[in-house]
Amino acid sequence: MSAANEEVKFTLKALVNKEKTEVIFAEVDSDLADVLVSFLTLPLGKIVSLLEKHYGSNSPVIGSLNTLRKSLANLDSVHFWTEGGKLMLLNPRSLFEDECRKLKLNIDHETKAAKYFTCGDTDCKSSYVSMYYGTSKCDRCGKSLNREIGIRKTKTGAINGDGGVFTHKTMSFLISDDLQVMTNVPGSIIRILKNVGITNMDGSELRTVSVGLNEIMDLLKGSLLSKTPLTDLILHKTQMNSVTIMYEPGILLHQTEKSSDPKKVIVKALIQKSTNKFLIVQAQEDFVDFLFGLLTIPLGGVIRLLGCKTSLGSVDTFCRSIENLIGSGHLKTLVTENGPLEPMLPPKYRSHNQILSITEQRMPPLYHWPSMFNSTEYVSTRPRVDPMYFKDPKGEGSFVKRPGIFLVTDNLTVVPSRMTLSLSIVNGLKIPFSDVEEVDVEIGFEEALGILKASLTSTYALTSGLNSILKKQPKQEQ
Ligand SMILES: [Zn+2]
Repeated sequence: MSAANEEVKFTLKALVNKEKTEVIFAEVDSDLADVLVSFLTLPLGKIVSLLEKHYGSNSPVIGSLNTLRKSLANLDSVHFWTEGGKLMLLNPRSLFEDECRKLKLNIDHETKAAKYFTCGDTDCKSSYVSMYYGTSKCDRCGKSLNREIGIRKTKTGAINGDGGVFTHKTMSFLISDDLQVMTNVPGSIIRILKNVGITNMDGSELRTVSVGLNEIMDLLKGSLLSKTPLTDLILHKTQMNSVTIMYEPGILLHQTEKSSDPKKVIVKALIQKSTNKFLIVQAQEDFVDFLFGLLTIPLGGVIRLLGCKTSLGSVDTFCRSIENLIGSGHLKTLVTENGPLEPMLPPKYRSHNQILSITEQRMPPLYHWPSMFNSTEYVSTRPRVDPMYFKDPKGEGSFVKRPGIFLVTDNLTVVPSRMTLSLSIVNGLKIPFSDVEEVDVEIGFEEALGILKASLTSTYALTSGLNSILKKQPKQEQ
Protein backbone atom coordinates (compact mmCIF):
# COMPACT_ATOMS: atom_id res chain seq x y z
CA MET A 1 0.00 0.00 0.00
CA SER A 2 1.21 3.47 -0.72
CA ALA A 3 2.74 5.68 1.92
CA ALA A 4 0.04 8.27 1.22
CA ASN A 5 -2.70 5.77 2.06
CA GLU A 6 -0.84 4.66 5.19
CA GLU A 7 -0.89 8.20 6.56
CA VAL A 8 -4.57 9.00 6.02
CA LYS A 9 -6.56 8.99 9.23
CA PHE A 10 -10.25 9.47 9.87
CA THR A 11 -11.79 10.24 13.22
CA LEU A 12 -14.78 8.24 14.27
CA LYS A 13 -16.81 8.83 17.39
CA ALA A 14 -18.36 5.68 18.78
CA LEU A 15 -20.90 5.18 21.54
CA VAL A 16 -20.06 2.05 23.53
CA ASN A 17 -22.58 0.37 25.87
CA LYS A 18 -22.01 0.42 29.60
CA GLU A 19 -20.87 -3.21 29.69
CA LYS A 20 -18.21 -2.22 27.12
CA THR A 21 -19.23 -5.16 24.96
CA GLU A 22 -20.90 -3.43 22.04
CA VAL A 23 -20.62 -0.37 19.89
CA ILE A 24 -24.13 1.05 19.74
CA PHE A 25 -23.41 3.41 16.89
CA ALA A 26 -20.70 5.61 15.48
CA GLU A 27 -20.62 9.00 13.86
CA VAL A 28 -18.69 9.31 10.61
CA ASP A 29 -18.01 12.29 8.38
CA SER A 30 -18.68 12.32 4.66
CA ASP A 31 -15.07 11.37 3.84
CA LEU A 32 -15.39 8.11 5.72
CA ALA A 33 -18.95 7.52 4.50
CA ASP A 34 -17.62 7.91 0.94
CA VAL A 35 -15.00 5.24 1.57
CA LEU A 36 -17.69 2.86 2.86
CA VAL A 37 -19.88 3.49 -0.19
CA SER A 38 -16.85 2.86 -2.41
CA PHE A 39 -16.86 -0.79 -1.19
CA LEU A 40 -20.06 -1.25 -3.22
CA THR A 41 -18.35 -0.13 -6.41
CA LEU A 42 -15.64 -2.79 -6.23
CA PRO A 43 -15.99 -5.90 -8.40
CA LEU A 44 -16.02 -9.18 -6.44
CA GLY A 45 -12.69 -10.28 -7.91
CA LYS A 46 -11.11 -6.98 -6.92
CA ILE A 47 -12.36 -7.33 -3.34
CA VAL A 48 -10.84 -10.81 -3.11
CA SER A 49 -7.50 -9.61 -4.46
CA LEU A 50 -7.40 -6.54 -2.18
CA LEU A 51 -8.10 -8.68 0.89
CA GLU A 52 -5.53 -11.29 -0.16
CA LYS A 53 -2.91 -8.61 -0.72
CA HIS A 54 -3.61 -6.89 2.59
CA TYR A 55 -3.96 -9.89 4.87
CA GLY A 56 -1.57 -12.28 3.10
CA SER A 57 -1.75 -15.76 4.61
CA ASN A 58 -4.43 -14.55 7.06
CA SER A 59 -6.69 -13.55 4.23
CA PRO A 60 -10.35 -14.33 4.88
CA VAL A 61 -12.19 -16.93 2.84
CA ILE A 62 -15.03 -15.33 0.90
CA GLY A 63 -17.15 -18.33 -0.08
CA SER A 64 -15.77 -19.92 -3.24
CA LEU A 65 -14.51 -16.68 -4.73
CA ASN A 66 -10.89 -17.15 -3.61
CA THR A 67 -10.66 -20.57 -5.27
CA LEU A 68 -12.46 -19.36 -8.40
CA ARG A 69 -10.04 -16.45 -8.78
CA LYS A 70 -7.03 -18.62 -8.02
CA SER A 71 -7.98 -21.11 -10.71
CA LEU A 72 -8.47 -18.23 -13.14
CA ALA A 73 -4.94 -17.03 -12.34
CA ASN A 74 -3.60 -20.56 -12.86
CA LEU A 75 -5.43 -21.15 -16.14
CA ASP A 76 -3.09 -20.83 -19.11
CA SER A 77 -3.64 -17.82 -21.37
CA VAL A 78 -4.18 -20.17 -24.34
CA HIS A 79 -7.69 -20.78 -23.00
CA PHE A 80 -8.61 -17.13 -23.56
CA TRP A 81 -9.28 -15.35 -26.84
CA THR A 82 -6.85 -12.62 -25.78
CA GLU A 83 -4.39 -12.33 -22.94
CA GLY A 84 -6.09 -9.02 -22.15
CA GLY A 85 -9.30 -10.95 -21.47
CA LYS A 86 -7.63 -12.98 -18.76
CA LEU A 87 -5.96 -9.88 -17.30
CA MET A 88 -9.29 -8.06 -17.21
CA LEU A 89 -11.06 -10.95 -15.43
CA LEU A 90 -8.23 -11.15 -12.89
CA ASN A 91 -8.26 -7.42 -12.24
CA PRO A 92 -11.68 -6.13 -13.17
CA ARG A 93 -12.11 -2.39 -13.06
CA SER A 94 -14.78 -0.47 -11.24
CA LEU A 95 -17.14 1.78 -13.15
CA PHE A 96 -16.40 4.40 -10.51
CA GLU A 97 -12.62 4.25 -10.45
CA ASP A 98 -12.31 7.90 -11.46
CA GLU A 99 -14.56 8.92 -8.59
CA CYS A 100 -12.73 6.62 -6.18
CA ARG A 101 -9.44 8.36 -7.02
CA LYS A 102 -10.93 11.42 -5.34
CA LEU A 103 -11.60 9.63 -2.06
CA LYS A 104 -9.59 10.63 0.98
CA LEU A 105 -8.48 7.00 1.03
CA ASN A 106 -8.86 4.77 -2.02
CA ILE A 107 -8.26 1.14 -1.10
CA ASP A 108 -7.97 0.33 -4.81
CA HIS A 109 -5.27 2.95 -5.32
CA GLU A 110 -3.02 0.61 -7.32
CA THR A 111 -5.44 0.62 -10.25
CA LYS A 112 -4.09 3.17 -12.66
CA ALA A 113 -6.26 5.17 -15.05
CA ALA A 114 -7.34 3.14 -18.08
CA LYS A 115 -5.19 3.37 -21.19
CA TYR A 116 -6.03 2.30 -24.70
CA PHE A 117 -3.71 0.89 -27.33
CA THR A 118 -4.15 0.46 -31.06
CA CYS A 119 -2.05 -0.97 -33.88
CA GLY A 120 1.61 0.10 -33.63
CA ASP A 121 1.74 0.87 -37.35
CA THR A 122 0.60 4.47 -37.82
CA ASP A 123 -0.31 3.76 -41.47
CA CYS A 124 -2.51 0.79 -40.60
CA LYS A 125 -6.23 1.37 -40.95
CA SER A 126 -7.18 -1.05 -38.20
CA SER A 127 -9.67 0.17 -35.65
CA TYR A 128 -8.94 -2.46 -33.01
CA VAL A 129 -8.18 -1.33 -29.51
CA SER A 130 -6.88 -3.12 -26.44
CA MET A 131 -6.61 -1.91 -22.86
CA TYR A 132 -3.43 -3.90 -22.37
CA TYR A 133 -0.14 -2.91 -23.95
CA GLY A 134 1.00 -5.36 -26.58
CA THR A 135 -1.18 -8.30 -25.57
CA SER A 136 -3.23 -8.45 -28.77
CA LYS A 137 -2.42 -8.56 -32.46
CA CYS A 138 -3.83 -6.20 -35.09
CA ASP A 139 -6.60 -7.77 -37.19
CA ARG A 140 -5.26 -6.23 -40.40
CA CYS A 141 -1.48 -6.36 -40.30
CA GLY A 142 -0.77 -8.67 -37.37
CA LYS A 143 1.37 -6.15 -35.54
CA SER A 144 1.08 -5.63 -31.83
CA LEU A 145 -1.54 -3.25 -30.41
CA ASN A 146 0.95 -1.05 -28.59
CA ARG A 147 0.29 2.56 -29.62
CA GLU A 148 -1.53 4.57 -27.00
CA ILE A 149 -4.57 6.55 -28.05
CA GLY A 150 -6.68 9.02 -26.20
CA ILE A 151 -10.07 8.73 -24.62
CA ARG A 152 -12.64 11.46 -24.57
CA LYS A 153 -14.85 10.82 -21.60
CA THR A 154 -18.49 11.62 -21.94
CA LYS A 155 -19.14 11.37 -18.23
CA THR A 156 -17.92 14.67 -16.87
CA GLY A 157 -18.62 16.71 -13.83
CA ALA A 158 -19.82 13.73 -11.80
CA ILE A 159 -18.13 15.24 -8.81
CA ASN A 160 -18.84 18.89 -8.65
CA GLY A 161 -19.33 21.41 -5.98
CA ASP A 162 -18.47 20.53 -2.44
CA GLY A 163 -15.73 17.95 -2.82
CA GLY A 164 -17.72 14.98 -1.53
CA VAL A 165 -17.60 11.90 -3.75
CA PHE A 166 -20.73 9.85 -3.04
CA THR A 167 -22.10 11.92 -0.16
CA HIS A 168 -22.29 15.66 0.34
CA LYS A 169 -19.20 16.99 2.05
CA THR A 170 -21.10 18.94 4.68
CA MET A 171 -23.00 15.89 5.94
CA SER A 172 -22.19 13.52 8.74
CA PHE A 173 -23.85 10.17 9.37
CA LEU A 174 -24.67 7.72 12.11
CA ILE A 175 -23.77 4.09 11.52
CA SER A 176 -25.13 1.21 13.55
CA ASP A 177 -23.04 -1.82 14.43
CA ASP A 178 -24.44 -3.69 11.42
CA LEU A 179 -23.55 -0.77 9.12
CA GLN A 180 -26.94 0.83 8.74
CA VAL A 181 -26.22 4.37 7.67
CA MET A 182 -28.57 7.05 8.94
CA THR A 183 -28.86 10.79 8.92
CA ASN A 184 -27.23 12.38 11.94
CA VAL A 185 -30.34 13.54 13.81
CA PRO A 186 -31.76 12.79 17.30
CA GLY A 187 -34.55 10.67 15.77
CA SER A 188 -31.97 8.28 14.31
CA ILE A 189 -30.25 7.95 17.69
CA ILE A 190 -33.49 7.07 19.43
CA ARG A 191 -34.31 4.53 16.71
CA ILE A 192 -30.93 2.81 17.11
CA LEU A 193 -31.18 2.79 20.91
CA LYS A 194 -34.66 1.27 20.70
CA ASN A 195 -33.44 -1.32 18.21
CA VAL A 196 -30.72 -2.53 20.54
CA GLY A 197 -33.02 -2.39 23.56
CA ILE A 198 -31.36 0.48 25.40
CA THR A 199 -33.80 2.62 27.39
CA ASN A 200 -31.33 5.04 28.89
CA MET A 201 -27.74 5.91 28.15
CA ASP A 202 -26.39 5.67 31.73
CA GLY A 203 -22.89 4.27 31.74
CA SER A 204 -22.45 4.32 28.00
CA GLU A 205 -19.26 5.86 26.83
CA LEU A 206 -18.29 7.99 23.88
CA ARG A 207 -14.95 6.99 22.39
CA THR A 208 -12.94 8.76 19.73
CA VAL A 209 -11.23 6.29 17.45
CA SER A 210 -8.61 6.95 14.80
CA VAL A 211 -9.28 4.98 11.62
CA GLY A 212 -6.60 4.40 9.00
CA LEU A 213 -5.98 1.98 6.18
CA ASN A 214 -5.79 -1.14 8.39
CA GLU A 215 -9.09 -0.29 10.05
CA ILE A 216 -10.73 0.45 6.69
CA MET A 217 -9.61 -2.95 5.41
CA ASP A 218 -10.99 -4.50 8.63
CA LEU A 219 -14.29 -2.76 7.89
CA LEU A 220 -14.33 -4.12 4.33
CA LYS A 221 -13.65 -7.61 5.67
CA GLY A 222 -16.18 -7.12 8.47
CA SER A 223 -18.86 -5.87 6.10
CA LEU A 224 -18.59 -9.24 4.32
CA LEU A 225 -18.12 -11.53 7.30
CA SER A 226 -19.59 -9.96 10.43
CA LYS A 227 -22.94 -8.68 11.69
CA THR A 228 -21.06 -6.46 14.18
CA PRO A 229 -18.12 -4.98 12.29
CA LEU A 230 -17.91 -1.81 14.41
CA THR A 231 -17.76 -3.75 17.66
CA ASP A 232 -15.18 -6.08 16.10
CA LEU A 233 -13.12 -3.10 15.05
CA ILE A 234 -13.37 -0.92 18.12
CA LEU A 235 -13.61 -3.46 20.92
CA HIS A 236 -11.51 -6.13 19.12
CA LYS A 237 -13.93 -8.80 20.09
CA THR A 238 -13.63 -11.45 17.44
CA GLN A 239 -11.27 -12.81 14.90
CA MET A 240 -13.39 -12.47 11.83
CA ASN A 241 -11.44 -15.06 9.87
CA SER A 242 -12.90 -17.77 12.02
CA VAL A 243 -16.48 -16.66 11.61
CA THR A 244 -18.57 -19.21 9.81
CA ILE A 245 -21.29 -17.72 7.71
CA MET A 246 -24.38 -19.77 7.26
CA TYR A 247 -25.46 -20.03 3.69
CA GLU A 248 -29.16 -19.36 3.60
CA PRO A 249 -30.64 -21.01 0.57
CA GLY A 250 -33.60 -19.78 -1.29
CA ILE A 251 -34.01 -17.15 -3.93
CA LEU A 252 -35.58 -14.44 -3.93
CA LEU A 253 -36.33 -12.82 -7.17
CA HIS A 254 -37.89 -9.84 -8.54
CA GLN A 255 -39.45 -11.52 -11.52
CA THR A 256 -39.13 -8.30 -13.46
CA GLU A 257 -35.39 -8.60 -13.46
CA LYS A 258 -35.58 -11.85 -15.33
CA SER A 259 -34.70 -11.18 -18.91
CA SER A 260 -37.34 -12.23 -21.38
CA ASP A 261 -35.09 -14.65 -23.21
CA PRO A 262 -32.56 -15.81 -20.64
CA LYS A 263 -29.51 -17.66 -21.79
CA LYS A 264 -29.10 -21.24 -20.67
CA VAL A 265 -26.07 -23.44 -20.57
CA ILE A 266 -25.92 -27.18 -19.97
CA VAL A 267 -23.30 -28.87 -17.82
CA LYS A 268 -22.71 -32.52 -17.01
CA ALA A 269 -22.49 -33.13 -13.30
CA LEU A 270 -21.36 -36.13 -11.29
CA ILE A 271 -23.65 -36.20 -8.28
CA GLN A 272 -23.46 -38.29 -5.15
CA LYS A 273 -26.97 -39.70 -5.08
CA SER A 274 -27.19 -40.31 -1.34
CA THR A 275 -26.24 -36.73 -0.46
CA ASN A 276 -27.15 -34.76 -3.61
CA LYS A 277 -23.62 -33.36 -3.49
CA PHE A 278 -21.88 -32.13 -6.62
CA LEU A 279 -18.67 -34.12 -7.00
CA ILE A 280 -17.45 -32.55 -10.21
CA VAL A 281 -18.95 -30.74 -13.17
CA GLN A 282 -17.85 -31.06 -16.75
CA ALA A 283 -18.57 -27.84 -18.59
CA GLN A 284 -17.88 -26.11 -21.83
CA GLU A 285 -16.37 -22.69 -22.19
CA ASP A 286 -19.76 -20.95 -21.87
CA PHE A 287 -20.25 -21.99 -18.23
CA VAL A 288 -16.64 -21.15 -17.37
CA ASP A 289 -17.03 -17.75 -19.02
CA PHE A 290 -20.09 -17.18 -16.86
CA LEU A 291 -18.27 -18.21 -13.67
CA PHE A 292 -15.26 -15.98 -14.31
CA GLY A 293 -17.67 -13.17 -15.19
CA LEU A 294 -19.01 -13.28 -11.61
CA LEU A 295 -15.70 -11.77 -10.51
CA THR A 296 -16.39 -8.65 -12.58
CA ILE A 297 -19.75 -7.77 -10.95
CA PRO A 298 -19.52 -4.91 -8.43
CA LEU A 299 -20.57 -5.73 -4.87
CA GLY A 300 -23.46 -3.25 -4.97
CA GLY A 301 -24.76 -4.84 -8.18
CA VAL A 302 -24.50 -8.30 -6.61
CA ILE A 303 -26.52 -7.15 -3.60
CA ARG A 304 -29.14 -5.65 -5.92
CA LEU A 305 -29.31 -8.83 -8.04
CA LEU A 306 -29.88 -10.87 -4.88
CA GLY A 307 -32.53 -8.50 -3.52
CA CYS A 308 -30.40 -7.49 -0.48
CA LYS A 309 -30.27 -11.15 0.61
CA THR A 310 -26.67 -12.08 0.04
CA SER A 311 -26.24 -13.65 3.53
CA LEU A 312 -22.95 -11.74 3.73
CA GLY A 313 -22.06 -9.97 7.02
CA SER A 314 -23.53 -6.49 7.03
CA VAL A 315 -23.55 -5.37 3.41
CA ASP A 316 -27.25 -6.09 2.96
CA THR A 317 -28.27 -3.72 5.76
CA PHE A 318 -25.65 -1.23 4.59
CA CYS A 319 -26.98 -1.29 1.05
CA ARG A 320 -30.62 -1.04 2.12
CA SER A 321 -29.82 1.94 4.33
CA ILE A 322 -28.08 3.71 1.45
CA GLU A 323 -31.20 3.13 -0.65
CA ASN A 324 -33.25 4.59 2.20
CA LEU A 325 -31.12 7.73 2.16
CA ILE A 326 -32.06 8.45 -1.43
CA GLY A 327 -34.22 11.53 -1.24
CA SER A 328 -32.67 12.69 2.04
CA GLY A 329 -30.44 15.19 0.28
CA HIS A 330 -27.36 13.58 1.82
CA LEU A 331 -26.23 11.69 -1.28
CA LYS A 332 -24.77 12.95 -4.52
CA THR A 333 -26.81 12.44 -7.67
CA LEU A 334 -24.22 9.84 -8.68
CA VAL A 335 -25.69 7.61 -5.96
CA THR A 336 -29.30 8.72 -6.14
CA GLU A 337 -29.29 7.75 -9.77
CA ASN A 338 -28.46 4.32 -8.39
CA GLY A 339 -24.94 4.19 -9.80
CA PRO A 340 -23.11 2.09 -7.21
CA LEU A 341 -26.18 -0.03 -6.57
CA GLU A 342 -26.69 -1.12 -10.17
CA PRO A 343 -25.57 -4.45 -11.62
CA MET A 344 -23.67 -2.66 -14.34
CA LEU A 345 -20.25 -3.39 -15.81
CA PRO A 346 -17.68 -1.22 -17.56
CA PRO A 347 -17.81 -1.14 -21.36
CA LYS A 348 -17.15 -4.46 -23.12
CA TYR A 349 -17.05 -6.41 -19.84
CA ARG A 350 -20.24 -8.33 -20.45
CA SER A 351 -19.75 -11.74 -21.99
CA HIS A 352 -22.44 -13.10 -24.27
CA ASN A 353 -22.36 -16.09 -21.92
CA GLN A 354 -23.61 -13.95 -19.04
CA ILE A 355 -26.85 -15.47 -17.78
CA LEU A 356 -27.73 -12.83 -15.17
CA SER A 357 -29.47 -9.52 -15.88
CA ILE A 358 -26.39 -7.38 -16.04
CA THR A 359 -25.84 -4.45 -18.32
CA GLU A 360 -22.65 -2.77 -19.38
CA GLN A 361 -21.87 0.88 -19.77
CA ARG A 362 -21.66 2.27 -23.27
CA MET A 363 -18.23 2.74 -24.69
CA PRO A 364 -16.94 6.30 -24.44
CA PRO A 365 -15.67 7.64 -27.78
CA LEU A 366 -11.99 7.01 -28.35
CA TYR A 367 -9.82 9.23 -30.47
CA HIS A 368 -6.39 8.83 -31.89
CA TRP A 369 -3.84 11.39 -31.03
CA PRO A 370 -0.27 11.71 -32.19
CA SER A 371 1.66 10.86 -29.08
CA MET A 372 4.96 11.64 -30.81
CA PHE A 373 4.08 15.32 -30.54
CA ASN A 374 3.24 14.77 -26.90
CA SER A 375 0.09 16.67 -27.60
CA THR A 376 -3.24 16.38 -25.92
CA GLU A 377 -4.91 17.73 -29.05
CA TYR A 378 -7.22 15.14 -30.51
CA VAL A 379 -6.83 14.40 -34.17
CA SER A 380 -10.13 14.21 -35.88
CA THR A 381 -9.11 12.51 -39.11
CA ARG A 382 -9.97 9.10 -37.69
CA PRO A 383 -12.48 10.17 -35.13
CA ARG A 384 -14.02 6.98 -33.95
CA VAL A 385 -12.52 3.69 -32.96
CA ASP A 386 -14.33 0.40 -32.87
CA PRO A 387 -13.02 -1.11 -29.69
CA MET A 388 -12.23 -4.75 -29.34
CA TYR A 389 -10.78 -4.91 -25.87
CA PHE A 390 -10.53 -8.30 -24.33
CA LYS A 391 -12.85 -10.52 -26.26
CA ASP A 392 -12.20 -12.53 -29.36
CA PRO A 393 -11.45 -10.62 -32.55
CA LYS A 394 -14.10 -12.60 -34.44
CA GLY A 395 -16.71 -10.88 -32.39
CA GLU A 396 -18.07 -13.83 -30.45
CA GLY A 397 -18.23 -11.66 -27.38
CA SER A 398 -16.75 -14.10 -24.91
CA PHE A 399 -13.49 -14.35 -22.99
CA VAL A 400 -12.80 -18.07 -22.73
CA LYS A 401 -11.89 -19.67 -26.03
CA ARG A 402 -14.19 -22.07 -27.82
CA PRO A 403 -14.16 -25.05 -27.94
CA GLY A 404 -13.09 -25.88 -24.42
CA ILE A 405 -13.89 -28.62 -21.94
CA PHE A 406 -13.29 -27.87 -18.31
CA LEU A 407 -13.82 -29.49 -14.95
CA VAL A 408 -15.34 -27.41 -12.18
CA THR A 409 -15.23 -28.50 -8.55
CA ASP A 410 -17.78 -27.67 -5.88
CA ASN A 411 -15.66 -24.70 -4.70
CA LEU A 412 -15.54 -23.34 -8.27
CA THR A 413 -11.98 -24.39 -9.04
CA VAL A 414 -11.81 -24.52 -12.84
CA VAL A 415 -9.26 -26.70 -14.65
CA PRO A 416 -8.99 -27.89 -18.27
CA SER A 417 -10.29 -31.44 -18.63
CA ARG A 418 -7.56 -34.07 -19.01
CA MET A 419 -7.84 -37.84 -18.91
CA THR A 420 -5.23 -38.16 -16.16
CA LEU A 421 -7.12 -35.65 -14.08
CA SER A 422 -10.45 -37.40 -14.68
CA LEU A 423 -8.86 -40.70 -13.63
CA SER A 424 -7.47 -39.20 -10.45
CA ILE A 425 -10.85 -37.66 -9.67
CA VAL A 426 -12.67 -40.96 -10.19
CA ASN A 427 -9.99 -42.65 -8.11
CA GLY A 428 -10.25 -40.10 -5.35
CA LEU A 429 -14.02 -40.19 -4.97
CA LYS A 430 -13.88 -42.82 -2.24
CA ILE A 431 -17.55 -43.52 -2.60
CA PRO A 432 -19.15 -46.53 -4.29
CA PHE A 433 -19.74 -45.92 -7.99
CA SER A 434 -23.30 -47.13 -7.46
CA ASP A 435 -23.82 -43.95 -5.43
CA VAL A 436 -22.61 -41.74 -8.29
CA GLU A 437 -24.85 -40.51 -11.03
CA GLU A 438 -24.18 -38.36 -14.07
CA VAL A 439 -26.87 -35.80 -14.80
CA ASP A 440 -27.26 -32.94 -17.24
CA VAL A 441 -27.95 -29.72 -15.37
CA GLU A 442 -29.44 -26.75 -17.15
CA ILE A 443 -28.09 -23.48 -15.81
CA GLY A 444 -30.60 -20.73 -16.46
CA PHE A 445 -31.41 -17.52 -14.66
CA GLU A 446 -32.40 -18.97 -11.28
CA GLU A 447 -29.57 -21.46 -11.23
CA ALA A 448 -27.10 -18.70 -12.10
CA LEU A 449 -28.39 -16.58 -9.22
CA GLY A 450 -28.16 -19.60 -6.93
CA ILE A 451 -24.50 -20.07 -7.87
CA LEU A 452 -23.77 -16.35 -7.46
CA LYS A 453 -25.35 -16.29 -4.02
CA ALA A 454 -23.68 -19.47 -2.85
CA SER A 455 -20.29 -18.38 -4.22
CA LEU A 456 -20.28 -15.50 -1.71
CA THR A 457 -20.62 -17.56 1.44
CA SER A 458 -20.16 -21.25 0.70
CA THR A 459 -17.11 -23.29 -0.20
CA TYR A 460 -19.60 -25.74 -1.74
CA ALA A 461 -20.99 -23.25 -4.21
CA LEU A 462 -22.43 -25.75 -6.68
CA THR A 463 -24.06 -27.99 -4.09
CA SER A 464 -25.37 -25.01 -2.08
CA GLY A 465 -26.43 -23.00 -5.09
CA LEU A 466 -27.99 -25.77 -7.16
CA ASN A 467 -29.22 -28.25 -4.59
CA SER A 468 -32.83 -27.19 -4.49
CA ILE A 469 -32.86 -26.95 -8.25
CA LEU A 470 -31.26 -30.36 -8.65
CA LYS A 471 -34.13 -31.96 -6.82
CA LYS A 472 -36.48 -30.65 -9.50
CA GLN A 473 -34.42 -32.05 -12.38
CA PRO A 474 -36.01 -35.09 -14.02
CA LYS A 475 -33.95 -38.20 -13.45
CA GLN A 476 -32.12 -39.31 -16.56
CA GLU A 477 -32.55 -42.74 -18.06
CA GLN A 478 -29.24 -44.53 -18.15
ZN1 LIG B 1 -2.33 -2.97 -38.04
